Amino acid sequence: TPQLPQPDAQPDPQAGAAVKAADRAHVFHSWSAQELIDPLAVAGAEGAYFWDYDGNRYLDLTSGLVYTNVGYQHPKVVTAVQEQAARLTTFAPAFAVEARSEAARLIAERTPGDLDRIFFTNGGADAVEHAVRMARLHTGRPKVLSAYRSYHGGTQQAINMTGDPRRWASDHGSAGVVHFWAPFLYRSRFYAETEEQECARALEHLETTIAFEGPQTVAALVLETVPGTAGIMVPPPGYLAGVRELCDKYGIVFVLDEVMAGFGRTGEWFAADLFGVVPDLMTFAKGVNSGYVPLGGVAISGEIAETFARRPYPGGLTYSGHPLACAAAVATIGVMAEEGVVENAARLGADVVGPALRELAERHPSVGEVRGVGMFWALELVRNRETREPLVPYNATGEANAPMAAFAAAAKAHGVWPFVNMNRTHVVPPCNVTEAELKEGLAALDAALSVADTFT
Ligand code: PMP
Repeated sequence: TPQLPQPDAQPDPQAGAAVKAADRAHVFHSWSAQELIDPLAVAGAEGAYFWDYDGNRYLDLTSGLVYTNVGYQHPKVVTAVQEQAARLTTFAPAFAVEARSEAARLIAERTPGDLDRIFFTNGGADAVEHAVRMARLHTGRPKVLSAYRSYHGGTQQAINMTGDPRRWASDHGSAGVVHFWAPFLYRSRFYAETEEQECARALEHLETTIAFEGPQTVAALVLETVPGTAGIMVPPPGYLAGVRELCDKYGIVFVLDEVMAGFGRTGEWFAADLFGVVPDLMTFAKGVNSGYVPLGGVAISGEIAETFARRPYPGGLTYSGHPLACAAAVATIGVMAEEGVVENAARLGADVVGPALRELAERHPSVGEVRGVGMFWALELVRNRETREPLVPYNATGEANAPMAAFAAAAKAHGVWPFVNMNRTHVVPPCNVTEAELKEGLAALDAALSVADTFT
């Protein structure tokens, strides 16, 4: 077994300063105003924790960007990557390679229905791009329907489909993308008061949208099974089954984006399993190999695979099914199966996180709503519980975001790194987190919410 990095017994602020200086001089960071950021220099990580060069250790309630589903530096995954590197580090996609075929087999065994062919990509956004291309070629239709409250990735097609305000700057006329409202009872667009109303009205709105767009022009309907970045809104019972019916009725390819929700996050292998729904295409990334080496993909139904049985699929990537990434996937799926990681997420979500967050909501006026499942939870923070006015405005930056910055700083002062997006904090630790670690994280959230309460 490899030597795991240890929390630095002797802090080395000088080394940290050198890492930071080179970063500030040369690394151009995602989604950031380059001079306004102050990235933490990370010295190491293990399991659910990481630490900096100054001797500070943090419990990571974010799983990186919601991807380290088996935690950092899992020895079995690290060893598998090392062994694959020693045996065959890389090989071009046109060849059959053991790590690649084995990863595809293990994924196909777990995906719902007949989603048995795996097209590998480098991450989530390109998986979404390829799912849409497959749907357009399969149907011969141009348009894509996607939800306003969504995130599908940072490449051009995927950002156009995204509803998150990060779309605005790059949306030069979304080629063929039409947005609709998916259900979200807490901020209902449909004046609904119950989940049943929200579900029925959201489906009626969707069918009307399809009718006015012209069903014969719609290739694909793309939804996150449980929208993640946009706020972890678990859809009401019956909604996804209703969408499946509408897609069948109008010949539209149903794509579920499980880049964030897949591979154990919701306490099932795939969130689609929570609802018993089988899409025509399903995208994945992140948790497939806990992000140890970049990997994503599209799981393809028999019917869509048939379209490309005797005519070439016009798309590919140099690193499709990269052996290092696939070896990490084989090992990660093995760890998840052997160590009961999916069951752990389901059990601790239901027995520990859900009840604890609801208890926090009772005591903290800044908590507007608690929602989630498995290791996939959101607290929506508000100024006023009656009016549901968000703690910070939509797309708040700078001073407007001061309350969330204060909340995050308080959590960090308690040794916990929180996920913060707009007026929400997401509780998304690794799926193999322990009950003791969760309790540590929840205690820090309790303290940080007391700071958020001062803004209500
Ligand atoms: N789809 C979903 C649902 C996601 O959450 C993300 C990433 N947060 C993406 C797509 C894009 O994945 P990537 O950043 O790997 O391109």
